Amino acid sequence: MLDYVDGSSLAGPMRELFAVDVTAVEGRCAACGLTGPIAALHVYGHDHGPGLVGRCPGCDEIVLRLVRTPTDAWLDVRGAVSLRFSL
Ligand SMILES: [Zn+2]
Repeated sequence: MLDYVDGSSLAGPMRELFAVDVTAVEGRCAACGLTGPIAALHVYGHDHGPGLVGRCPGCDEIVLRLVRTPTDAWLDVRGAVSLRFSL
């Protein structure tokens, strides 16, 4: 069995990723494979409701969802195969 450490070991490496301008992060759509910056997504829900939906400009599938409440935020990126952060 492989040794592992708990998820708190990700704090340092993840802090570096989330300190960048996330709109410049390059995502790859899980549905069609199109790769491009988060800024190129078509975002809906900005004018109503607690959440935003980012859709792929190539195939219109949902790439990410962001829901914000007064105390929490949920980011769902299951529509992206990967996110590339330029460091
Ligand atoms: Zn797509």
